[in-house]
Amino acid sequence: MYSRTQNDNGTYNTRCLYCFMTVASAVETPEELEVEEAEHLCPEKALAYMLAHDRASDEHAHRN
Ligand SMILES: [Zn+2]
Repeated sequence: MYSRTQNDNGTYNTRCLYCFMTVASAVETPEELEVEEAEHLCPEKALAYMLAHDRASDEHAHRN
């Protein structure tokens, strides 16, 4: 989920809709946007993953 905008000079910006961080700015091609977006390590998604992982290890601890 990314919000792409185009600048007056024809370059692009892309912003992550989960963490609202600007992933890339002044990117010249849509192909490069794809690359930048793919490389974005979203802190919001990482947090959600960590919380899910914590829950899983808690359940494991209770079983022991
Ligand atoms: Zn993000």
